[in-house]
Amino acid sequence: MEQKINIAIDGHSSCGKGTLAKNLAKELDYLFIDSGAMYRAVTLYMLNEGLTLEEVAEDPAVLGNIKITFEYQPEKSFFETHLNGVNVETEIRSMRISKFVSPVSALPVVRDFLVVQQKKIGENKGVVMDGRDIGTVVFPDAELKIFMTASPEIRAKRRYEELQKKGVFVNYQEVLHNIKERDHIDSTRDTSPLAKAEDAITLDNSAMSKDEQARLSLSWARGVIKSLEAQS
Ligand code: C5P
Repeated sequence: MEQKINIAIDGHSSCGKGTLAKNLAKELDYLFIDSGAMYRAVTLYMLNEGLTLEEVAEDPAVLGNIKITFEYQPEKSFFETHLNGVNVETEIRSMRISKFVSPVSALPVVRDFLVVQQKKIGENKGVVMDGRDIGTVVFPDAELKIFMTASPEIRAKRRYEELQKKGVFVNYQEVLHNIKERDHIDSTRDTSPLAKAEDAITLDNSAMSKDEQARLSLSWARGVIKSLEAQS
């Protein structure tokens, strides 16, 4: 049987990490986990329950009521996020959640709560996970780490077009502002800030198509798997 590895994909907001991770997982027949969806689901829970950042920081036990699961949708080849049994995939992608998710993710109690679950998912290998701290904190031993980036303007343009296609009305400047603000909060928070792991490969996709990125990353993954198999 082919040797299985874990693949960590980190990088700035709206770089296409999810698309790349999904492609890789499909090609390798691995599990794809969108860790950002977990932070978004916690944010949605807090907004629904009217919980403030201070309340959660003071009483992390409230997080114990949150159960996040991923349900596979064969027709979309996609894992949809469920919060306490309810499909929240569309809701967690809204600007309302995007506006609050970074301060929520900066709370150490929230990170502790989710990182334990994420590490567990990776115990048996064969996982592609994307986020901000996967190569540094969640899977520091991942056999392949990719750090993605692109200019904020290009990322905002892609995100704006994606939302428009979905029929979500947004203003380009608002999207650009949100991306820059999330980059800032994610990179400067005290607990596991967004950072490139020392052994990560940088992938600047400002001028690359989705197919090019997918082909390149798959060749990296196959290269790592081959060299591990040669060693064993
Ligand atoms: O990946 P996505 O943009 O959906 O993530 C939403 C937010 O969740 C990020 O802006 C970041 O604040 C937070 N996040 C994080 N650590 C991760 C994944 C996401 O802090 N591993």
